[in-house]
Amino acid sequence: MPHRLSHKSLPYKLSIWLSSLALMAVFVVIGWNLYGQVEKNFDIELAGVSARLHGVYTSQNEALSRHAQALAHSISANAEIQRLLDEAIEAARTEQAQSDGGAHATQVRHALQEQMKRQWDELSTRYEVEHLQFLLPDGTSFLRMSAPTLFGDVRTEARPMLADVIQDHNPRSGFEIAYTYAGVRGVVAVTRTMPDGSERHVGIVEVGFDMNRFLNRLDKQFNTGIVLLLDSKQVSSIMLERYRPTIETRYGFILASSRPEARELLQSGLLPADLPQHHLLTWKERHFQLITLALDDYQSQLDPLPRLPPGTVLIWRDITDRVEHLNKDRAAVLANTLAAWVFAQLFLLLLLYMLRREWKRQLKQNTATIKNLLQYNTLLLDTAANGICGIDNDGCITFINRSALAMHGFQLEEVMGRNPRDLFYPQDPDSQSDPAKTFMQTVEDGKPREAEEWLSRRDGSCFPAKVVVTPIFEQGKRNGAVIVFHDITEQRNRQEALLQLATTDSLTGVSNRRHFLDQLDTELVRLRRYGGHTSILMTDLDFFKHVNDKYGHATGDVVLSHFVHIVRQTVRRSDIIGRLGGEEFAVLLPGDGVPGACGLAERLRRAFENNPVKVGDALIACTVSIGISDLRGDDMTADAPLRRADEALYAAKAAGRNRTELYDPDRQHPPFELENESAEISTISVSGGVRTEHMSSAMPPMSRTPRGAGTSDS
Ligand code: GH3
Ligand code: MG
Ligand code: MG
Repeated sequence: MPHRLSHKSLPYKLSIWLSSLALMAVFVVIGWNLYGQVEKNFDIELAGVSARLHGVYTSQNEALSRHAQALAHSISANAEIQRLLDEAIEAARTEQAQSDGGAHATQVRHALQEQMKRQWDELSTRYEVEHLQFLLPDGTSFLRMSAPTLFGDVRTEARPMLADVIQDHNPRSGFEIAYTYAGVRGVVAVTRTMPDGSERHVGIVEVGFDMNRFLNRLDKQFNTGIVLLLDSKQVSSIMLERYRPTIETRYGFILASSRPEARELLQSGLLPADLPQHHLLTWKERHFQLITLALDDYQSQLDPLPRLPPGTVLIWRDITDRVEHLNKDRAAVLANTLAAWVFAQLFLLLLLYMLRREWKRQLKQNTATIKNLLQYNTLLLDTAANGICGIDNDGCITFINRSALAMHGFQLEEVMGRNPRDLFYPQDPDSQSDPAKTFMQTVEDGKPREAEEWLSRRDGSCFPAKVVVTPIFEQGKRNGAVIVFHDITEQRNRQEALLQLATTDSLTGVSNRRHFLDQLDTELVRLRRYGGHTSILMTDLDFFKHVNDKYGHATGDVVLSHFVHIVRQTVRRSDIIGRLGGEEFAVLLPGDGVPGACGLAERLRRAFENNPVKVGDALIACTVSIGISDLRGDDMTADAPLRRADEALYAAKAAGRNRTELYDPDRQHPPFELENESAEISTISVSGGVRTEHMSSAMPPMSRTPRGAGTSDS
């Protein structure tokens, strides 16, 4: 049993491993998903922030544009400025034509500068204006407040916004890279109302903001670093070298930035070359979210065709706290998943352990029950008086009890697994009994059987046995049979003795009256069917009463036995002798016709007469009278031939006894009565010291009536 338990523990270990692995896989999937969810939330949050910043930047940029336009508008509304610009048109024309005409233009320019001086200070300090330019109606720069010495240039080809305003005098605003200034600007046409009421287009005012201050404002508001990068090619092709931004990086010129670290960041080499829209960056042990927006300029707002943006807005946001939070979230997910897994694993192990304990308990209980049952079975098998033997489907022994071994005379190890055919069944080819066949029939058809068979012992001797074969069914399938048997030798002997008792006469051993009559009936049936000859002798000892009277009943019995002995010696073995009553015997002679029967009767009579029996000192010679008849085809019962033979016997008695008479239907049977008062033993001869006594015909009278005369034969 312990061996079995350890054998079972392999699947148990395997089941622990498999279920643990499955559980681990489940938790890996759960952890993976939770982790992914945390990451996804983080990405969504960053994307949200990015979109929000994009929107904020765009709206603030637009507000700045409108603001620039409004400022330019307010300046253009100044009548003195309108007048000076009107004057500047003529002055500039002479300035360009001849050298001495420049004085007027310078005067007007100076007057304009003086006019704007106070306002310019306020605009640049308070309104973050960096660029204020007055242009002539054709777009020629007349005065740049930030660069008063630079004028007279016409660069409308690089200034689509300016060109548009010149064309339709409608105000415009937006980002543009220009000769000395790149940034968000408002451009407004200046119109002067003349004294006659007519309106005259006298020039253009352009106001541009300081982008650094704009970005600083955004930075403060949203706590994000912002840098404006301008495309190097566009800057180089448009801006005057002196007015270009001073710092150039691989991503372009830094036009403006809200934080000084922008330059360091851009030159750190940590940023990818193509500046993706979203990027996470670890820099100086801090984490940043980078958001890149295309810089929309005036032209890109108008132009439906995509073109290379003039620059890029790069926003960087310190998300160190958020990343630390994310890391905490990640760690929490891992820790929680791990803790849950450990808990679940422990629970699983506990569950499996409890299941196993319960299973072991049940197994132990069942094992004990099975052991008990086995013990009971063994006890039952071994104490059973019957032989019990199990065979499998091939007829080989699977179990056998002690009684069976004892009956067959074998040891257990000699028979287990062997076919009983080779051990227990008679090897005599003439034997009618074939137990193996009986047993295998039950194994094959699953039907129980009972039979009486001859079984053999180890020494070759045989014994009759009553055998019960019962098929074994296991889970609905035939699996051999159980053979239960017991020795019926004694039973058979008893039966035979009983039969003997029932059919034979105990004194002489010949058939008793009833059995003889049965045999006679059988012979009549046989005769009727097959024909042939059979005769019957009816015998009666002469004056037997005298023997009894003289020597006693016991000696009479000896004489009777002696007579039967003589009969047996005289007749054939196949002839049937029966005692019909007292000292009357009948002999049935199958195959013998009347002549044979007469001869045999005469031989019998003589043999009995000539063979006295010695009882003690006395030698008793007795005679017998015999009636003879044949059996006939029309004899329907035993009564008829018996009656005939009895009549013949009667005739023999009547004719003086010690003789044989054949039945003669024509014979007259005068009733006779013989007195036997004078009957006595007539002759006593002594030979060799033994007395021989003969019963003579003068012996006691016989009172006999033939059956035909109506008396019974009993
Ligand atoms: P008979 O010549 O006329 O036959 O004269 P019997 O004396 O033989 O007369 P019967 O046949 O009538 O007598 C039969 C006698 O046989 C009567 C009885 O005492 C005796 N007898 C019957 N059965 C037995 C028996 O079993 N043993 C002994 N010893 N005697 C028996
Ligand atoms: Mg008699
Ligand atoms: Mg007699």
